[in-house]
Formats: sequence, C-alpha cells, structure tokens
Amino acid sequence: MDFIAQIVFIIVLGVGVYFFYKSISRIRRNIQIGKDIDLTDNKPQRWKNMLRFAVGQGKMTKIKPIAGILHIFVYLGFVLINIEVAEIIIDGIAGTHRVFRPVLGGLYDFSIGFFEILGLLVIISCIIFLFRRNAMKIYRFQSPELKGWPFFDANVILVVEIVLMTALLVMNAADRHFQQDANMPVSGFIYPLFQNMSESTAYMWMQAAWWFHFAGILWFLNYVPYSKHLHIILAFPNTYFTNLNPKAKFQNNPLVANEVKAMMDPSFTPPAVENPRFGVKDVEDLTWKNLLDAYSCTECGRCTSVCPANTTGKLLSPRKVMMDTRDRLEEVGKIRAGAMPEPAEPKDLHTYITREELLACTTCNACVEVCPVNINPMEIIVNMRQYLVMEQSNAPQEWNMMFSNIENNGAPWQFAQSERGNWALDLEKESNKEENQI
Ligand code: SF4
Ligand code: SF4
Repeated sequence: MDFIAQIVFIIVLGVGVYFFYKSISRIRRNIQIGKDIDLTDNKPQRWKNMLRFAVGQGKMTKIKPIAGILHIFVYLGFVLINIEVAEIIIDGIAGTHRVFRPVLGGLYDFSIGFFEILGLLVIISCIIFLFRRNAMKIYRFQSPELKGWPFFDANVILVVEIVLMTALLVMNAADRHFQQDANMPVSGFIYPLFQNMSESTAYMWMQAAWWFHFAGILWFLNYVPYSKHLHIILAFPNTYFTNLNPKAKFQNNPLVANEVKAMMDPSFTPPAVENPRFGVKDVEDLTWKNLLDAYSCTECGRCTSVCPANTTGKLLSPRKVMMDTRDRLEEVGKIRAGAMPEPAEPKDLHTYITREELLACTTCNACVEVCPVNINPMEIIVNMRQYLVMEQSNAPQEWNMMFSNIENNGAPWQFAQSERGNWALDLEKESNKEENQI
C-alpha cells in the first residue's frame, strides 16, 4: 500500500470513528434523560442473564430453535469475522498486507478459514431472513407500525450483511499469493475465477474488495445508531440491567405510598415534593432502563404476536409502544440539543401512544416473558396509564366507579362493608328449608 493510500485510509477511518462516537454520545445523552434507578445488585445473576439472553439467544432458541440458531450464526459470525477488521486497520495504517499471518502462522489460516465458514452461514441465514420477511406472510412482519422506514431498515441491513460478507470472500479469493499457500474452505471455490487473470488485475480485485469491505464496515458502524440494529450493541447492557424482581411485582409510586402511610399513621408527614408527578407523561418520567429498552428493541414483534389485547383485535401493540417511546425520545433529545425547534402544538409521549392503546393492556406480562432482549413494554404502559388516571382523571367510567368503591367500601363492589355477608342470608334460608324437608 502506498503512502497516499495510507493517508486516505487514516482520514476515512478517523472521520468514520468520529461520527460513530458522536452518534453513541447522542444516544447516551438521550438515555440519561430518564429517571435514575439502581440496577446494580446481584452482579453474578446479571452476568448470567447477559450470557444467556444476549450471547446465547436463550429465548429465541427456546421458542423457535431454528430461527434462534440462524440468529446465533448471524450474530457470532458478524462479531467474530470483524476480528479481521483489526488486521485491516493495522494493514491500512501501516501499509502492510496480512500483518498477522507471519506472527500466527497455521493458526492464522485456520482462523480465516473458520471466519469464511461463518461468513457463508451469515449469507445463507440473511437470505432466509429476507425470504421470511418479504415472501412469507408472517403476521408479526405485517403490522402497521412496520410500514415505511422500519420495513426498509430491516431489509437494508440484511442486504448489507450479505454484501459485506461477499466482499470478504472475494478479497480472500482474489489474493493469489494467499490462495496458492493456504487452503481456504469457501474462497478456495471462488479462487478459480481469479486464477487465470493477470497478476495486476487480480490485485486490483483484491484491493477493491478490501476497500469496499472496509468502507462498508464504517458505513455500517454509522448506520447502526439510526437503525433497529442498534440492538447488536445494546442487547448486552440491556440484558445485564434486566430488572431482577419477579415480573408481576409492581413498583409502588412513592408519592402514593406516602399518602397511604399518612392516612394510616397521622404522625407521619409526607416529605414535600416540588411538581409531583403521578405516572408517566413524557419520556423524562420514564427510567433510564425504560429508555435503554426503547433503543434496544429489535422490532421483532414477538411481544405483539403473544399480546392477548392485540390478538383479539385491540389497537395495542407492545412493539409499537417501544418504537413510539424511542421516536419521542429522539424528538426530545433533538429539541434539548437545539437541533429541532419546539413543536407549535405541545407534545408528549401520550401524543404517540393513545389512551385506547393504554387501556387495552391486561397486564398479563406475556410481552415481557417473550422478549428476546428482556424489554418490558408493560412497565411503560402501566405508568402511562397511571398518569391518565391520577393526573388527567381520564379513566373509563367503570374504572372510576370501581375506584370510588375501593375508597368508600374497601372493595371493588358497590356494597357497604356491613352488607358484604348479605349474599349468604338466602343460602341460610335455603339450607334451613332443605333441613326441614329432610
Ligand atoms: S402485558 Fe399488556 S401489552 Fe404486554 S402482552 Fe399483556 S396485554 Fe399485551
Ligand atoms: S419489545 Fe422485545 S419482543 Fe417486542 S419487538 Fe421489541 S425486541 Fe421484539
């Protein structure tokens, strides 16, 4: 590699890494908009969760083993093959060629051969995924929230992965000195295409594939923060910081808990809170983990496909809840950073997620149970619903009656406590009658 090429390489690499750093900083800043929550307890369990769910695709392999295994190929293949990127970077900066080969010897050839097999598996898996997504009428890929950009995004990334892996294989195949010396399991079959070319033409092909692969990786790096594929990075922290409480355990709102405490204990005075907030109005009222969840969503739709509200024709889709939360967070982030003006009409998270959607949730936890990266859409729904009920007094009439009954009678029914046993009076008469008859 000549000196000019090295300079160009360093500039392109620097620009690509700089923009990636800017994007990741933006996402980090946005996640920090959320309320603080301590999720640092029980570290061994957290590492176990991360290994099981993010690395091992634990839920995917359990529910759909074939799809799970294909995901493992794509994921591991992508991560491991990019170890080769380290060599590309060193070669690009230092002007060397396959710098690791003299150092690693036979291990190098073995590793590249292994990467090639993984690359081929990635290509096959991506073709199957493209077919499933576009040709098979799978319900969870047809939902309204997947129209437009999410549909395009899902396809584009699969195509890019195929192209990047192909460039890698072409690069190895066109490297005639390498092919004459090593026995490559995949590129060895493509090598005959380059075998009869002149030395300089084969070299040109190898250089073109090398640059294409490198530029493609940089492009991918900068595309991912704007794509649902951000989960390939965030799945790790998201599974690590999974809430370890039992799924059905609701968090008490401390404001409500203090009010109840004051009712039960007149000597207790609740601490004064400036601008108290009951429930969630906007993304600032969610925790940072809820916001990390939103950025980690793979848009796979498994939550929606098991949601009893959605499958019985209600408007609610937990996947849409996560996508809406992310979209609103992006908007708030841009406004705060001065990259976007305040909208003329005031907006909040309820502008994105409607009352009808929120009220449809049965709090069954099925969405939480099935999510491959341990996202909790229900927590967002329940807390937004709390805002509707407690701050907006916007609960359905039937719910309001139930709340009044609980407040006045200590039970959801409209009977005074003294009348609760009345239902048994008739029973007593009936049983007396029966006894007399006997
Ligand atoms: S908890 Fe709510 S959103 Fe989640 S699956 Fe059940 S009904 Fe659907
Ligand atoms: S919340 Fe989980 S299950 Fe639902 S679409 Fe996102 S990643 Fe898939």
